[in-house]
Amino acid sequence: MSQAENQRSDNARKTEQPALQSDRKRPVRMISTRGDSPPVSFTGAMKAGLAPDGGLYVPDPVPRFSAMFLEKLSQLSIRDAGREVMKHYGSDDGESERLVSVVEEAINFDAPLVPLREGIFLLELFHGPTLAFKDFGARYMARAFAAADNGEDDRDLLILVATSGDTGSAVAHGFYGVPGTRVCLLYPSGKVSRLQEQQMTTLGGNVTALEVDGTFDDCQRLVKEAFSDSVLRRELRLSSANSINIARLIPQSFYYIHAVAQLQQIAGREVRPFFSVPSGNFGNLTAGLIAMRMGMPAAGFLAATNVNDVVPRYLETGIFEPRASTPTLSNAMDVGHPSNFERILYLFGDSHSEIRKVIDGCSFDDKATRETIGRVWKEYGYRIDPHTAVGLLAAERRLREAGGEAPLVILSTAHPAKFSEVVEAETGRPVPLPEQLRSCLEKPKQTIPMGSDYAAFRSLLAELP
Ligand SMILES: *Cc1c(COP(=O)(O)O)cnc(C)c1O
Repeated sequence: MSQAENQRSDNARKTEQPALQSDRKRPVRMISTRGDSPPVSFTGAMKAGLAPDGGLYVPDPVPRFSAMFLEKLSQLSIRDAGREVMKHYGSDDGESERLVSVVEEAINFDAPLVPLREGIFLLELFHGPTLAFKDFGARYMARAFAAADNGEDDRDLLILVATSGDTGSAVAHGFYGVPGTRVCLLYPSGKVSRLQEQQMTTLGGNVTALEVDGTFDDCQRLVKEAFSDSVLRRELRLSSANSINIARLIPQSFYYIHAVAQLQQIAGREVRPFFSVPSGNFGNLTAGLIAMRMGMPAAGFLAATNVNDVVPRYLETGIFEPRASTPTLSNAMDVGHPSNFERILYLFGDSHSEIRKVIDGCSFDDKATRETIGRVWKEYGYRIDPHTAVGLLAAERRLREAGGEAPLVILSTAHPAKFSEVVEAETGRPVPLPEQLRSCLEKPKQTIPMGSDYAAFRSLLAELP
C-alpha cells in the first residue's frame, strides 16, 4: 500500500469513529442569511445583533448532538440540555467554556411538561421572572454579554431597548443586577398595560425606564438615532437586545430538548413529538427547528397564529406577503412581518416544499381563542392564556385531522395571570397572582418622563449614572 493510500485508510478509520471528537471537526461560525458578511463567533454575532449586510446570523454548520447524549436524554435536566447545546457554539475551547458556564445562572427555573389529555401536553414556559418564555433567551443573553471578553474596554455596557411591552420587561429583568451592564428602556407613555408597566418600571438598580410622550415608533426612532450617532457611540458602549439576536434564539432550544426528555421519561421509550408553537416573530419556532437540526427527535412543528397569518398563508400558497398587523387578544403575536422568517427560509434553502414537510400552519381568531380559554377551564380546571389557547387550537385540529401518531406538545408561552382580564372573563373567576407579579404590583413606579426629540434623549443618556 502506498503512503498516500495508507493515509487515506487512516482517515477513513478516523471518520468512522463516532467518538466525541467528531463533534468538533469544524468550529461553528455564525454566518449571515444574506451571505454577504464575514463569518463571526457566537459572541461576535451577539454583540453585532444584525449582520452588517442586514441579514440574520445563523450557525454554520448546525452542530450535531452525539449519539451518547441522545441516548441518555430522558435522564437529563433542562440545564444539562443547555450545557450540551452551548458547548457546540464556541469557536474555541475558551468561548465554549464561557457559553456553557452561563447556563447555570441563566436557567434558574424549570419548564415542566403537563399532560392535558391523551396525546396532548403543555410545556409551561412561564416560570421565569416575567412569566413568559422570553425570560429564557433574555436571561441567557444578559449573562453571556457580562461574561464576554471585551479586551481593553472596561466601560459598562449600555443596552437600549424600545418596547411596546413584553420584550422590554424580559430584557430589563434579564439584565437586572448583572454586573457591568445597564439597561435603558423606552416605552410609549399610556400605551402599555398597567401590569407591563409595573414589570418594567419597578426594578431600579441598573435599569432605567424612560416614559416617552409619544408612540412606540417614536421610541424606536430614538433608539435608531442613538445607534447611528457616531459621537455618542464613541462615548458610550452601546448595544441592543433585539429579539433577532442569536444569543436569545439558541437558548430557546433548551426547553424543546427538555420537553422531549420529559416525554421519553413518561413513555419509557424514544418519542418524536409534534410541537405546536404560538408564533409572532417566529423566533420560538426557529429555535425548535435548530434543535431538530441538531438531532433532537421531533416529528414536526405547527405554526399557530392569530389572524396575523402571513406564515400559515405562505405555507398554503407559497407566497410570503407581509402586511400591517391587526390587534388581537394574543397581542405578543400581532406581527405583520415576522423577522425570523428569513432564518426559516435560509434553513430550508428557500424551498417551500421542504418547509412544508416539517412545518404545518393554522390561524385562529379572538372568538375561538376566548371560547377555548373557557372550555379548557371547564373541562380540565386548567387556565391558559390567549397565546397558549391559539397553540392548543392548532394542536386539537391536528389531532382531529392527522390522528395521534405523535404526541402533541403545546408551547405555553405566558402565564394566564399576565392576561387576567380575558382569562377571568372566560372562566368566571379571578386568576391567582403568582409571587413575581404580586411583588412588582406593590412597588412604586420609577420612570424618567421624556419628550420624543432626540436632543433631550441624547443628553439624558450622557447623564445616566
Ligand atoms: C413573544 C411571544 C410570542 C411569540 O413568539 P415569537 O418568537 O415572536 O414567535 C408568543 N407568546 C408570547 C406570550 C410572547 O410573549
